[in-house]
Amino acid sequence: MSKKRQPIFTIASILLTLVAVVIFLLGTMVEPFNAYWIPMFAGGLVLLISAWGVYYFGERSAKPTQEEEKEKVITVIGCKNCDVREERAFAEGDYVRKEIGPCKKCSGTSVIKAIYAVSLKKE
Ligand SMILES: [Zn+2]
Repeated sequence: MSKKRQPIFTIASILLTLVAVVIFLLGTMVEPFNAYWIPMFAGGLVLLISAWGVYYFGERSAKPTQEEEKEKVITVIGCKNCDVREERAFAEGDYVRKEIGPCKKCSGTSVIKAIYAVSLKKE
């Protein structure tokens, strides 16, 4: 099972949070910026909210793929010459009778014999 995470969203939200914290600190602690602390505070808030948004929507967009994994597609590979039979996860471009390459056992031609779906729902 491969857990598909989207680290880009997590990293982006962490970076935005860090930038917001730096803006808060500059606005409250560094003298030349004190006069502008209200717009800086507002900007920092916007960054924090967008950080939260990026994280939240990043998580949400990652969810549908997990739900699709309730159904697993299996590709059955067999050999034309011997009785070798192998199953693996379906890969893009797979179709029945597609030639895969030499057989591991007899160096005959391996072909896709079947493609089927298995439901992973626990019921
Ligand atoms: Zn073979």
